[in-house]
Amino acid sequence: MNDRRLTNGSELILASHNPGKVREIRALLEPFGMKVSSASELELDEPEETGITFVENARIKALATMRASGRPSLADDSGLAVDALGGAPGIYSARWAGPEKDFSVAMERVESELKTTGDCNRRAAFICALTLCWPDGHCRDFEGRVEGELVWPPRGTLGFGYDPVFVPDGHSETFGEMDQIKKHAMSHRADAFRKLVDACF
Ligand code: IMP
Repeated sequence: MNDRRLTNGSELILASHNPGKVREIRALLEPFGMKVSSASELELDEPEETGITFVENARIKALATMRASGRPSLADDSGLAVDALGGAPGIYSARWAGPEKDFSVAMERVESELKTTGDCNRRAAFICALTLCWPDGHCRDFEGRVEGELVWPPRGTLGFGYDPVFVPDGHSETFGEMDQIKKHAMSHRADAFRKLVDACF
């Protein structure tokens, strides 16, 4: 099966209603001159994420968007995996923010659960699964990650989600304090994107 079907000017629908993610994916795709729209701009429904892995959830979203739009569709399922919490919140990263999508609540929960374990290990990783589905039903999955440490209290107002508590290895700023161009170069999403670009352009 030929995976090299993306070219400058190709149309791609982002299977996301998360403005932070859509902004980052648009920035990552910008150098490729693609025509990008999002599922929220097209007012497509959000499918229920019933998978138990990042890849399964990315597949569910990419397939639903491809079927509803009839166009090549790209989904991102991502989250924070904390070592001392056995990988939680993981695929539940968005859900820990509650119905109000308040990430200060989610970051507080991570911190309080870490305290409860009594473990001083603050290692964590952001993980990103990308799935690209073409209108003939063919899909490819790519996974990226970035390792780091959690800090408390949260620092910085850039980025989104759990960025203010995550310091990537080799750096002292959190993703929330970091220039977003710098974050895009090293993030879990950028890592997965490099793999997608290598395979599909
Ligand atoms: P989902 O992939 O839509 O289920 O949600 C992933 C959730 O993981 C987001 O809502 C964020 O809370 C978190 N997340 C994913 N990527 C990042 C990131 O780059 N920075 C901060 N939080 C992230």
